Amino acid sequence: MTLEEVLRMGKECLQQAGIPEPDWNAWYLFSYCFHLERGRYFLCSGETAAEENIRFYEELIQKRKSRIPLEYIIHETEFMGLPFQVNEQVLIPRQDTECLVEEVLKISEGKEILDLCTGSGCIGISLAKLGKCKSVTLSDISGEALATAGENARENQVEVRLIQSDLFESIPDSFDIIVSNPPYIPSGEWEKLMPEVREHEPKLALDGGGDGLVFYRSIIGKIGCFLRPGGSLFFEIGWNQGVEVSRMMVQAGFDHVEVKKDLAGLDRIVQGQYRK
Ligand code: GLN
Repeated sequence: MTLEEVLRMGKECLQQAGIPEPDWNAWYLFSYCFHLERGRYFLCSGETAAEENIRFYEELIQKRKSRIPLEYIIHETEFMGLPFQVNEQVLIPRQDTECLVEEVLKISEGKEILDLCTGSGCIGISLAKLGKCKSVTLSDISGEALATAGENARENQVEVRLIQSDLFESIPDSFDIIVSNPPYIPSGEWEKLMPEVREHEPKLALDGGGDGLVFYRSIIGKIGCFLRPGGSLFFEIGWNQGVEVSRMMVQAGFDHVEVKKDLAGLDRIVQGQYRK
């Protein structure tokens, strides 16, 4: 089989299985498996593919057919232009979350920052790499997630402190900035999620309880001991949670509470400053 035929086989297989964007998925796995960029592929698409590589490609295609997300198959993704390893113990970093990082970067200079529910570490590690923060602490309830975050910190050559903690339970200090993308999918909406998310991403990182707001409530409720007066809190939120999360923050003593949108124009961030 030529390389071109192998790629076509991958596309057809995914198409028949009803995988969204079969062309893109087949190409991405192909380029990973054969170590080929677009330009080089066009030069050598008529060459015979090695049997061993064809078998490996078929395995990757089978995995994608069973709705495993691309990122988990190749174990890596990009966030803020930086490389991140991922596995089924951590949420796959989303592009929407980059808006949150960009907001925090605006005021991060010289600050001590806590990334709560860090998962892969994408938020805190990007801040440590791209900002001029004084320190970054990453925390998560899952030891496996924290181990992944640690590897990502090493790969991106940033110094961070890792703390395994159920929200604030084992956090010993206070911070200038707390940022969090906590689980926020209302439990009742679980069944409506795409199979890639529902069957493969960690429920622990997604399920925000009955109304989806359990973690916001809990974090805001205890914020006084962990966010310094005048410090800032940044949350990623679901598109319809802005009003409620803002209300909770105002009630808990935050000023300048603002809801900001993502690139799709949906409410995505709530931020505010803790009263001095
Ligand atoms: N902080 C990580 C992210 O934004 C994980 C979030 C989570 O597990 N809820 O991707």
